Amino acid sequence: TSGAGMANNVILYDDKLLEVRREEARIVRLLETSLKEKTLEVWYQPLYHLKRERFTGTEALVRLPDGNGGYVPAGQVIEIAEKNGLVGQVGEYVIHRACTFMMEKGKKLGIESMGINLSVQQLLVENSVPSIIGHIKKTGLDPKCITFEITETVLIQSIELAKGILDELSSYGVRIALDDFGIGYSSLNYLLNLPVNVLKFDRSMTKKSVDSEKQYALLKAMIQMADINQMDVVAEGVETEEEWKMLTSTSASYIQGFYYSKPLPEEKLMQFLRDNNHIENVKQ
Ligand code: C2E
Ligand code: MG
Ligand code: MG
Ligand code: MG
Repeated sequence: TSGAGMANNVILYDDKLLEVRREEARIVRLLETSLKEKTLEVWYQPLYHLKRERFTGTEALVRLPDGNGGYVPAGQVIEIAEKNGLVGQVGEYVIHRACTFMMEKGKKLGIESMGINLSVQQLLVENSVPSIIGHIKKTGLDPKCITFEITETVLIQSIELAKGILDELSSYGVRIALDDFGIGYSSLNYLLNLPVNVLKFDRSMTKKSVDSEKQYALLKAMIQMADINQMDVVAEGVETEEEWKMLTSTSASYIQGFYYSKPLPEEKLMQFLRDNNHIENVKQ
């Protein structure tokens, strides 16, 4: 009967839910252990400066080993960290690693700016900004070498709050990037009141612009508006030669994506930069 069928569905649903919860609990344990044992990894993806024809930036991306030789997707790690009160600790860890790397090796390899993603939850804690800046300074790095990346959609939810926090952050000299720009509903207009230095155009904007003249014209216009407002544009997620060509016909400043390199662990990034920025004699 249909009644029995429904009962079955309920059981299946409960099973699925239980499985999801177990998986989440497993990731929480992995994350806690990796923080304690300092086995949580930070990988880096290079950013290519089109005019200067070399890599001048990197973005730090968290990598949690999954215990089977792979990694838990970063988006999932952050989501679960946020839900379980761990995002502050993860953030501190990433800042410490990325700033130390920047101090010791990055500059010698021609890297001027390190991008670090911030979750808004990290920023809503009392005294978050001085604490975040404190973690940078502890490593000896000048905050000017850091670009904090904050996702556009989250900022729009409370523009007043966002303005307060971003003004405070930028008063310490760090740069601010709006991440995943173009998938939210922001007009550049409202951005004028925010201390934003960089717009990171989401990869969907590039993808659309290679297929459509109209989208391409819009992309170009948006990049020009960013220019007028003295904001740098990074095109994210650039994968193909065709996308690369299209972007080089705009005034975008940087390209980031698999076209140049996937995110790499520290040693591999150093090798990549030595080879591609033509730098010799930088010891590991
Ligand atoms: P995001 O900040 O927008 O980072 C870019 C993501 O796009 C990275 O995914 C990167 O591996 C991926 N990507 C780069 N180039 C390409 C490309 O050419 N094609 C494609 N398909 N993908 C590309 P990842 O590392 O999985 O990170 C996902 C998101 O997780 C990040 O998006 C960021 O929002 C968040 N995240 C990563 N690390 C951290 C962190 O330390 N703290 C915080 N709060 N969030 C982080
Ligand atoms: Mg980012
Ligand atoms: Mg992004
Ligand atoms: Mg993203």
